Amino acid sequence: MKKTLGLYIHIPFCMSKCYYCDFLSKANQENYFTAYVHALENEIIGYQSLLEEYSINSIFIGGGTPTILPIEALQRILIKIQECFSIDSKVEITVESNPGTLSYRMLQGLKEVGVNRLSIGLQTFQNKLLQKIGRVHTSEQFLKNYETALKIGFENINMDLIFGLPEQKIEHWEEDLKKAIQLNPAHLSCYSLIVEEGTTFFDMQEKGELLLPTEEENLYMYQMCIQFLQQAEYNHYEISNFSKPGKQCIHNIKYWCCDEYIGFGLGAHSYFQGVRYHNVYSLEDYIRKSHDIEKIKKDKERISTKEAYEEFMFLGLRLIEGVSKEEFYQRFQISMEEIYGSVLQKLIKLNLLKEEKNNVKFTKRGLEVGNLVFEQFLLE
Ligand code: SF4
Repeated sequence: MKKTLGLYIHIPFCMSKCYYCDFLSKANQENYFTAYVHALENEIIGYQSLLEEYSINSIFIGGGTPTILPIEALQRILIKIQECFSIDSKVEITVESNPGTLSYRMLQGLKEVGVNRLSIGLQTFQNKLLQKIGRVHTSEQFLKNYETALKIGFENINMDLIFGLPEQKIEHWEEDLKKAIQLNPAHLSCYSLIVEEGTTFFDMQEKGELLLPTEEENLYMYQMCIQFLQQAEYNHYEISNFSKPGKQCIHNIKYWCCDEYIGFGLGAHSYFQGVRYHNVYSLEDYIRKSHDIEKIKKDKERISTKEAYEEFMFLGLRLIEGVSKEEFYQRFQISMEEIYGSVLQKLIKLNLLKEEKNNVKFTKRGLEVGNLVFEQFLLE
């Protein structure tokens, strides 16, 4: 039986830059679209013989804004992948989108080429807040596209929401959650805003111009999110992710379980056969060198055993079901206690972690202070 593998395809273009965004993406790059898609095809072909032993069970086209490309370009990328690799019959194919770039034609075209999961970045239903965070769409545009996607037959739709936005009140967030629940998407990702260096919000924060909710309000919004979504029968399966039964994101679970994946495109990260690397960050370099995949790979690093323990713990703990002691032993031939015995004892005593059915997982309190827990798993 072939081993399974996930593929990520990065589209580094957007209509404009949102004020909170530090992803690798730029606006006003239309002149590069054709050459970039061609380069992606080259890179995909370059991996063909390397991946003969693998069966692809998740494909995720992310960005940036993939749906800024013409539908024909997205179809070409997916067709090339289908030509070059062995694809599992139950493959999950996700395309991320911005409501400002969707249309009936785009959605129909995605469906035709086998896309079976749509991720729509709404962020909030409040048009005023959308403007304040630099989004190019309104909530009405989102609703229109959501309805169209349902009519076309997309059953597995993810909606992205953000809490902790500047000037966002508890009432706004409550309304967002209620409206989202009413629409009943298969999946919801609810992230807390993080102000990253290099973003417009970071500069505004430096100048004291960013009015953010307090830490207490943020925590309240997170608790409210979990409570509302669980009441609406969403399964809270990862710190920020909620799904209807059987609709967890197969692709993202690979990251949290330290499974293998290949990233295509500008700056895309890969984890393959024990080695992590990423592609070059210069668009010109990527386009020029994509015919030789070795020339675009950077910072190749074989993961040491110590790093593998650490990653297994702090990525796996993001999942609500936690990390399995048995799986730890199977992977590393050493017990979790031998490596992390005293850390586990301490965190369990502090009521941040608990043990259930041979799994180590977050308590309610641990979930709320996740980062403090993760750093405990870094080894000397
Ligand atoms: S659309 Fe997404 S990737 Fe593009 S700038 Fe906004 S948040 Fe970043």
